[in-house]
Amino acid sequence: MRVHLLSPHSLIFRTHSSSRYSVAALVGALEIDQRLSDLDIQAPLDLSLNSIQMAIKKGPTIIAHSVMSTQTRRVYEEVKKIRERFGNDVTIIGGGAHASIRPKELLVKGFDYVVVGEGEYVFPDLIWQLMNNDDPMDIPSVVDKTTNEVPVPKKLPIVDLDKCPPFALGMNILGPIEVTRGCPFQCKFCSTPFLTGGRVRHRSVESITNWLTLAVEKSGFERTWFLSPNALCYGGHGRKAEPEKLESLLKAVTKIDGLEEVFFGSFPSEVRPEFVTKSILEMLRSYVANDTLQIGLQSSSNRVLNLANRHHTVEQGMDAIQIALETGFIPHVDMIFGLPGETKEELYESIDLCYNLVEMGAKTHGHVFMPLPGSAYENMPPGRLDTESRRLLGELSRRKDMTGSWSTQEGIAEYLWSQNKDAGKSLK
Ligand code: SF4
Repeated sequence: MRVHLLSPHSLIFRTHSSSRYSVAALVGALEIDQRLSDLDIQAPLDLSLNSIQMAIKKGPTIIAHSVMSTQTRRVYEEVKKIRERFGNDVTIIGGGAHASIRPKELLVKGFDYVVVGEGEYVFPDLIWQLMNNDDPMDIPSVVDKTTNEVPVPKKLPIVDLDKCPPFALGMNILGPIEVTRGCPFQCKFCSTPFLTGGRVRHRSVESITNWLTLAVEKSGFERTWFLSPNALCYGGHGRKAEPEKLESLLKAVTKIDGLEEVFFGSFPSEVRPEFVTKSILEMLRSYVANDTLQIGLQSSSNRVLNLANRHHTVEQGMDAIQIALETGFIPHVDMIFGLPGETKEELYESIDLCYNLVEMGAKTHGHVFMPLPGSAYENMPPGRLDTESRRLLGELSRRKDMTGSWSTQEGIAEYLWSQNKDAGKSLK
């Protein structure tokens, strides 16, 4: 007979399409923690108040959210409703990018505890402390209302990806395998530098193949994708390609029995243009199943790229696109409209470039500049389109030559801008 020393706790990890990769990795971290084998974990895509009520009837209930800056409105409304209905009968914890940047804001919005920085080690510890009625504030990267000095993510200890599952096989919450975390570049529109401080690490070939083999055996995985800020930097320090290390990964994963297709360098990953060479793409082509290659160009203006600290030129972007076409890939080119400092003329030149890229045989992926908290551009005004630019981008989208949420992002960008203005230093 199993003896329960602790009251049976429930963890409801609220899942959303925007947070599913984080949820997969964090539930995976809980699954391998022997201390938590009695924890009842749910990861619902829809969270009803009734399901929370049922969990509370069974025992102490923890609700977790992984919070991205683009999702705060939805998350805060949900947390407010839960607090209004259940008061302190639930413990609400938050983590993720926005939580790491503005932990005190989450506390004001009703969260009890916030995990700053990478969650794979800390999240299981926090749950364990809560299950034992121990003080979670013993964990350095956990913040609550008593915290005076908020930790900075890039100064906290880093996670070894090889020690953490990429997804939750037990609960069958699967997703792409994160092969690289961190980026040495400092693009001003991106919050990754604040979160990782340029500390690049890779999951080893052995760890990747082990997890993929298990996923094939246990979950019938037939194809796989990978997560990386710059897929072609695999194996190196992040500033230049290491083709041999990249090939050793591709060779190993494409040999896994039962794994029929390997997608690498396509969405949700991206490649920086200056990492693209003919020999690397020819090598990639010989292993991968993807027809597309996601290339981050972002603007048709060298001046705007330079302002954004992008560290590549438009010409390097065009070379990468040409090489991708010559080696049998359809380039999917990321563009950001309305970047700080971009003139109206430059906006229209970027849109013109999209039309030219389509004629060359590429597709485009459109974004509107959003002042992301934690990015160097967080206090810059949002990207704004006018009627004609919206019409031109809409035409590309209708023709299926442009994907991306550029239209929705216009609204999110305005919201972030207003939030950033309100966020005084005390809320960070
Ligand atoms: S946009 Fe990409 S290359 Fe630039 S800092 Fe962010 S992750 Fe790195």
